Amino acid sequence: MRIGSVKRPERVAVIGVGILGASVGWNLSRHGAKVVFIDVGQPGEGVTNWSFSWVNASNKTARKSYFDLNVAGMAAHRELARTIGPDSWWYASGHLRWTDDPAAEVKLLETAELLASWDYQVEVCTGAEVRRRLEPALTMPGEVPVVFYPDEAWVHGRHLVGRLVGQAVASGAEHRYGTAVCDIGTGADGSIRTVALSDGSCLDVDIVVNAAGPSASHVAGLIARHLPMRREPGAVTRIGCAQVPVHRAMHAPHIEIRPDGDSSVVLHSREIDALIDTGEDPTELGRLLHESARHVVPELGNSRIAQTRVADRPIPADGFPSVGAVPSVPGYYEAVSHSGITLGPVIGRLLASEILSGKRDEMLADFRPERFPP
Ligand SMILES: Cc1cc2nc3c(=O)[nH]c(=O)nc-3n(C[C@H](O)[C@H](O)[C@H](O)COP(=O)(O)OP(=O)(O)OC[C@H]3O[C@@H](n4cnc5c(N)ncnc54)[C@H](O)[C@@H]3O)c2cc1C
Repeated sequence: MRIGSVKRPERVAVIGVGILGASVGWNLSRHGAKVVFIDVGQPGEGVTNWSFSWVNASNKTARKSYFDLNVAGMAAHRELARTIGPDSWWYASGHLRWTDDPAAEVKLLETAELLASWDYQVEVCTGAEVRRRLEPALTMPGEVPVVFYPDEAWVHGRHLVGRLVGQAVASGAEHRYGTAVCDIGTGADGSIRTVALSDGSCLDVDIVVNAAGPSASHVAGLIARHLPMRREPGAVTRIGCAQVPVHRAMHAPHIEIRPDGDSSVVLHSREIDALIDTGEDPTELGRLLHESARHVVPELGNSRIAQTRVADRPIPADGFPSVGAVPSVPGYYEAVSHSGITLGPVIGRLLASEILSGKRDEMLADFRPERFPP
């Protein structure tokens, strides 16, 4: 479907330079559009830097169209790694998942069967096989079923953002970092004209992309749009270690663990997230995460906590992405999503194409901003 007549944008303001803004801006820039990246902080230092960063569709089975979008997200990452090179951001080492709860184990194996019937790559192994073939440093019962998803991956979000923005800037994109968008101006016909920045400057633009992550609702408010978002904070801890004892991302009982480069490991747990609103101190949350991780990887007992951060997930109220044009405000687009690490490259490609061609991709049909009434 085409939305109205399309003229080439004069200048696109990408508001927020996490994985979503960087992906949209990079795609626009490589197709010749004039882009200005704007971030109140520095590129890639928002939630993108405080994510478990697992690239997957196995956790997205609730709605088939959302699963398909995430599968497309995985493919878009592989394509991006071929285009810009994988160095320092793309780790296609698969994902392991097992549990110590019998009911959860039944569910895990049922999901594995469903995924296999959808042609998703799944292998069910035993703990003993995993230790022998993949992860010798893990402690797990030898007979426990472990699901291995060989096509899944993890991403170093900050490095990927740096790479995308670096390439876009090298081919002419502008940037304004350390300054917030505090107003968006529209013309008499309601279309986008300007963005005002907190440093007092004002930029002429005819398109804005709201990729402000957890602050997207606030940015939408600048054009009097109501974008309802859920509050779902998560705690992530970085552990410094002399040698990283794990080779891939994993969901172990009570803890998620992944490597984070050559001397660091990232930890996260939904169970620990549930303590955030009880007022628990982030230092204590980090200590609890470290404690759980040591039960699975005893070597992590010798490591130290480098930093713990509580970050808000950028989740529209119904849990699904909000991506595309808002027809009542010509020139205004949204790129707001949880699972943004998985979805960044595919959303970037689809949204840039929509901005440049006016054609709406069917893959985004269930995730359009218009589903939230004014
Ligand atoms: C604990 C946790 C675990 C997660 N695990 C996963 C996972 O395993 N897999 C997965 O796919 N996803 C995961 N996610 C979600 C994923 O991290 C996010 O969906 C993704 O990083 C969002 O990227 P973004 O670019 O939208 O936001 P951000 O990275 O936050 O970027 C938004 C940027 O906007 C800027 N900004 C905000 N307001 C303004 C303004 N007014 N003017 C200018 N700039 C502004 C901010 O400074 C920021 O840099 C997780 C999230 C959390 C919190």
